[in-house]
Amino acid sequence: MGEEKKNGKKLQLAMYWAASCGGCDMAVLDVNEKILDIAAVADIRLWPIAMDYKYKDVESWADGEIDVCLFNGAVRNSEQLHLARLLRRKCKVMVAFGSCASFGGIPGLANLHCKKTIFEAVYGYTASTVNPEGTTPQTHTKVPEGDLHIPDFFDDVYSLNQVIPVEYYVPGCPPTPDTVMVAVNAIATGNLPPVGSTIAGDKAVCDECLRTKSDKPKIQAFHRPQEIFVDAEKCLLEQGLTCMGSATRGGCGSLCPAVNMPCRGCYGPMPRSLDAGADALAAMTSIVDASDEQAARTKGDQLVDPLGTFYRFTLPVSMLRRAQREH
Ligand code: SF4
Repeated sequence: MGEEKKNGKKLQLAMYWAASCGGCDMAVLDVNEKILDIAAVADIRLWPIAMDYKYKDVESWADGEIDVCLFNGAVRNSEQLHLARLLRRKCKVMVAFGSCASFGGIPGLANLHCKKTIFEAVYGYTASTVNPEGTTPQTHTKVPEGDLHIPDFFDDVYSLNQVIPVEYYVPGCPPTPDTVMVAVNAIATGNLPPVGSTIAGDKAVCDECLRTKSDKPKIQAFHRPQEIFVDAEKCLLEQGLTCMGSATRGGCGSLCPAVNMPCRGCYGPMPRSLDAGADALAAMTSIVDASDEQAARTKGDQLVDPLGTFYRFTLPVSMLRRAQREH
């Protein structure tokens, strides 16, 4: 851990979670004993997963009172939007922490549908649903005790920078402990890259991956990892597994390929890339062993859930952004 803040005052830090699984909060704890270094240089003023804070606590802060907010999770309802805007006012530096805040993440795959069809499934016909009256959540409900209010569920899932300005991005699902510590060190010492930067690697996961790659790779067929005995040394893509390593920003240490799992793309697009999914698709299709269009189609049909594979973490920030609305 670097020096404490230059003026001797501790860094004022807020952490918030929106539409996420909680993994990004766990990632902060995954730094293990280094959490004590963080506590030595930072006052954690907000961390809902660890302590019970109220809106009024955040509202009582002066604008700009907090140095940095690590905001994890996408924005998919009105409460998350309200907190994103409120924290933007209260915090000097906003960091999109994790893949959901940075790109929409897994919750962003809900942009394949809209609120109506999601509610129809969740409160209607899933196997575990018993709801004969077809009740769906209402934002306002009158009960004898008074009015109840719950957040409005949006049609779309948004990345953080689609709703408020963001200074830095720390990708990962979740960010690895090393990535967390690089980001915390940079923040604590004020040694930050230019605004708009992503605090992770600048090269692709393939560049970090130690698997052997051929000069002229060819994909004979696509498989899912459980369908084949994976060669522990050879490039996974060359074995027909849909590895996103060539189109994904590194910095994770290629952890997934190291344990026989294809890169899923959680560190997001490469610098200057417009669309990580399109990049990965272009890389893969360019090495498919197919002599004509029909052979290429046959191999393409072997890809299970291509949209969920190529846009698993990035659909809301991709060129596709969402599926055409059904209603
Ligand atoms: Fe490693 Fe995947 Fe890149 Fe192959 S495609 S070199 S397995 S990261």
